[in-house]
Amino acid sequence: MIKQQKNNRRLLVLDDENDVAATICMMAEIAGYQTEHTDSIEVFIEQLFVWSPTHVAVDLQLAKLDGIDVIHRLVELDCKAAVIIISGLGGRILDSASRAAAENGLTLLGTLSKPFSRDSLLDLLTIDTSSRILPHQESSFLHSGLSISGDELANALRKKAFIAHFQPKISCLNSELMGFECLARWPHQSGVMITPVDFIEIAERSGLIHQLTRQIYEYALANLTDFAQTDTKLKFALNLSPVNLNDETFPNWLLDKCREYNVSPSQIILEVTETASMDSPLKLLEHLTQFRIRGFHLSIDDFGVGYSSLVQLARLPFSELKIDQMFTKTLTTSDESRKIVAAVVSLGKSMGLNVVAEGVENEWALNFLCDIGCDEAQGYFIARPMDKITALNWKGGKKE
Ligand code: C2E
Ligand code: CA
Ligand code: CA
Repeated sequence: MIKQQKNNRRLLVLDDENDVAATICMMAEIAGYQTEHTDSIEVFIEQLFVWSPTHVAVDLQLAKLDGIDVIHRLVELDCKAAVIIISGLGGRILDSASRAAAENGLTLLGTLSKPFSRDSLLDLLTIDTSSRILPHQESSFLHSGLSISGDELANALRKKAFIAHFQPKISCLNSELMGFECLARWPHQSGVMITPVDFIEIAERSGLIHQLTRQIYEYALANLTDFAQTDTKLKFALNLSPVNLNDETFPNWLLDKCREYNVSPSQIILEVTETASMDSPLKLLEHLTQFRIRGFHLSIDDFGVGYSSLVQLARLPFSELKIDQMFTKTLTTSDESRKIVAAVVSLGKSMGLNVVAEGVENEWALNFLCDIGCDEAQGYFIARPMDKITALNWKGGKKE
């Protein structure tokens, strides 16, 4: 039965333990939710359409199917509700199920381990999932889904169509703005803003990445003087494709461009993501060292996933470690992520590196990172990538 209240937050619970479901509903109503519960997946799915809940809570163990099946159904149905996963199973199982939900693209609010307290449920239900998004910040991942050809890319390069958007990095110590990551963007003639996922790979495969990198870097460098007028201590991070490292002329090209735009190499952080396509380990060592000799900072991007390994960290001349967002995004829901992030922060600090966490999507994660001594944070909770003018006026990091 649906209990009507003024509030427009609606929680739908799927659990075959009726008393548990009823208790959840009762607590949620205290928090101002309308609630409904069922033990049938068919009724649950019907209600998803008919009632459009803003929140769903799903038990991992049901008589006919398990929580992973339910997660798949939610994905198939393009469920936009915030998801809470409930279970009497151990923490690790709950952890991996919640990771599966998040990696399937669901908005995971958190997990509840049975028996749970009233406060832990209320904590979840009162989470504000909205970021502090300003009008000119990007409202979402602007992946257009366009299929880009090499010719189209070459054409756009000729027209100098590629630009950068700027995402702030703030100090965990005092929320001060430390700098920006410059992220490639392609304002397409169709009106959509195309993000790198649609063109970096094809640029790498077609060899156009060298031209593309130079175009994005030049746009960023040419605009840095405007930022420097407001704050000369700011640093700017630029992404480097591993393919760029094979271009021996690039370190000097970059140094010349820095001189041309009056930017000190010490203001630039090059973020490098490792891939399997890397040249020989010796060449990589040499190329990276060449950037350091010229005064640029180097950051090991996406640390903890893919090919970025402890060997690389020990061997290569990085000055910064960037914890992959996969860990940061799951801080609120995964005990393992919290342990890994705490260990990586401590490792990075002990090696004298500046440690940055990206993918900070809520206040809880930001506070956690600050508590464990992470140096800097970046993510949608702080700000989304922004065009230059919006970024120049961005004051969100500074405490009043
Ligand atoms: P990345 O270097 O890991 O950059 C971070 C990506 O995560 C950016 O996506 C950023 O918009 C997004 N992001 C930042 N904070 C959050 C958050 O809190 N939540 C979520 N869900 N996402 C967040 P973007 O701009 O689409 O870039 C994707 C990737 O493309 C970058 O990942 C980087 O590897 C690559 N890329 C971007 N610009 C360049 C470039 O100029 N050259 C090269 N070679 N690669 C680039
Ligand atoms: Ca990066
Ligand atoms: Ca990254």
